[in-house]
Amino acid sequence: MDFLIVVDMQNDFVDGVLGTKEAEAIVPAVAETIRNWNGPVICTRDTHQKFYLHTQEGEHLPVIHCVEGTEGWELNPVIAEAADVPDTVMELNKPSFGSLELPKCIQLLEDDEDPISSITLVGLCTDICVISNAMILKAAFPETPIRVLEKCCAGVTPEQHRNALNAMKVCQIEVE
Ligand SMILES: [Zn+2]
Repeated sequence: MDFLIVVDMQNDFVDGVLGTKEAEAIVPAVAETIRNWNGPVICTRDTHQKFYLHTQEGEHLPVIHCVEGTEGWELNPVIAEAADVPDTVMELNKPSFGSLELPKCIQLLEDDEDPISSITLVGLCTDICVISNAMILKAAFPETPIRVLEKCCAGVTPEQHRNALNAMKVCQIEVE
């Protein structure tokens, strides 16, 4: 069973308040990866509440984004269309960069007759939420290959994207 984790491909990170041209550029490749995927897909959503500015993240990044229920919080429409496959794709809201719920979610979907063979991550941002979740998954599943598709990720800046890919490689996450 090969899992695909699509990290935070939400409007606010693609072309909204925290969007970048690099994030917009990966949308077709991420959508294609979802459509061609043979296995379960989990789309995570960065999820904040109205009191965001009073959180730790809000103090460090005072840009209100991904407030639950707003348009910015929704998945990018191209991604949402590709991910509109009931029974195969599920959504997971997360209040922090890395999700401790994500490994539990994968374990729940695991099939005894078809155990986890790999976990692949794509999405945004390479240097914040992709790396955070890749590290959590590496700790939760030390014997499972964890992969990141570099052309299906984008960082806050291109330099931070490259730095994060290098940091993940050092921790034996396969960058393809
Ligand atoms: Zn956030």
